[in-house]
Amino acid sequence: MDFSISRNDELLFEGKRKRLVEQLKEKGITNQAVLNAILKIPRHFFLDQDTILQKPQHIKLIERPALLEHAYSDKALKIGAGQTISHPFTVAFQTEKLNIQKGDKVLEIGTGCGYQTAVLLEMGAKVYSIERQKELFDKTKLFLPKMGYQLAKLMYGDGYKGWPQYAPFDKIIVTAAAPYIPQDLLAQLVIGGILVIPLGEGEEQVMNVIVKKTDKEFEKQSFGKFKFVPMLQNKAS
Ligand code: SAH
Repeated sequence: MDFSISRNDELLFEGKRKRLVEQLKEKGITNQAVLNAILKIPRHFFLDQDTILQKPQHIKLIERPALLEHAYSDKALKIGAGQTISHPFTVAFQTEKLNIQKGDKVLEIGTGCGYQTAVLLEMGAKVYSIERQKELFDKTKLFLPKMGYQLAKLMYGDGYKGWPQYAPFDKIIVTAAAPYIPQDLLAQLVIGGILVIPLGEGEEQVMNVIVKKTDKEFEKQSFGKFKFVPMLQNKAS
């Protein structure tokens, strides 16, 4: 990280993250690499990017206690531009379903505040991430390097189109609710690649895990209900 926080604060946050990881295990998450990443990443900073961007050198005081109180509970929280960061359980569930191996090339649709991006990077993936909201894209592009995550490639664009320049990808994760499976994303997967995508236009969506068997054959499995903000067409400004 580009800044330091007091040891007391670190201990407090570490304790909160340990409890969160215990809750995730109780809810059925077993992948140790996913749990390790969540244990390590300071989620509270991702919810408070403005403070980090304004006070880059030394963070001592917890300046937004209400937000910090919630950062390690299993809740979705607002990140600006009308968007939310996903519940930790949702992040853990989607990441587990991606079956990440070190060195995997992963495309993420919906960078948001970059928390999911950081989880993938901690697991040794090469991450390409697309965000359609300019405000979120601009902030997260500055914020991630401050947190020590320099390696993600970020694009301001429309995730429906994928990122042909860097295709094919081993894995693709969509972190917004899609009304249908975008054909461009299937086309940009390697054979044997995995797409994890929440589908549905109502209040709740069903999580789908799609494995590309051949250029034309796909295997789809559906899992329980989740809540996401909608995947929208075209770039917003
Ligand atoms: N992975 C994010 C979750 C953010 S919420 C995180 O960890 O914070 C979903 C994000 O998807 C929002 O930021 C929203 O703007 C973005 N989004 C919605 N439709 C999109 C599209 N077509 N292309 C790219 N991003 C999109």
